[in-house]
Amino acid sequence: MHELSIAAAVVESAEAVARELGADCVEGVTLRIGELAGVVADALRFSFGLVAEGTPLHGAELVIEEVPARALCGGTGGCGTEFAVGSPPGLWCPRCARPAVELLAGRELELAEVRVAGSA
Ligand SMILES: [Zn+2]
Repeated sequence: MHELSIAAAVVESAEAVARELGADCVEGVTLRIGELAGVVADALRFSFGLVAEGTPLHGAELVIEEVPARALCGGTGGCGTEFAVGSPPGLWCPRCARPAVELLAGRELELAEVRVAGSA
């Protein structure tokens, strides 16, 4: 299960942040996840709960910020339009119907914030 390994990595990173800050408890974690990252938010929440068990993240709130996918019509002959990719993903420029050359956003999978409580 893909989400389980992501949850494990998130818990590990957040633990490291808490350690660095000298905190013994993590209250919440915010993740930025791109629309096209292929992550099922509900499955990730569930996995996070399991992985957080017995760690400083036990009971921590998981906030998921979804990042909409955007693409750029550029390159040779491109019109430079930036457009929402949408769902299902369409990578063709709505203005000139060329395929996009670049995905600007939508594949993010990053730890945006770790909120800690208490300090050692
Ligand atoms: Zn275009």
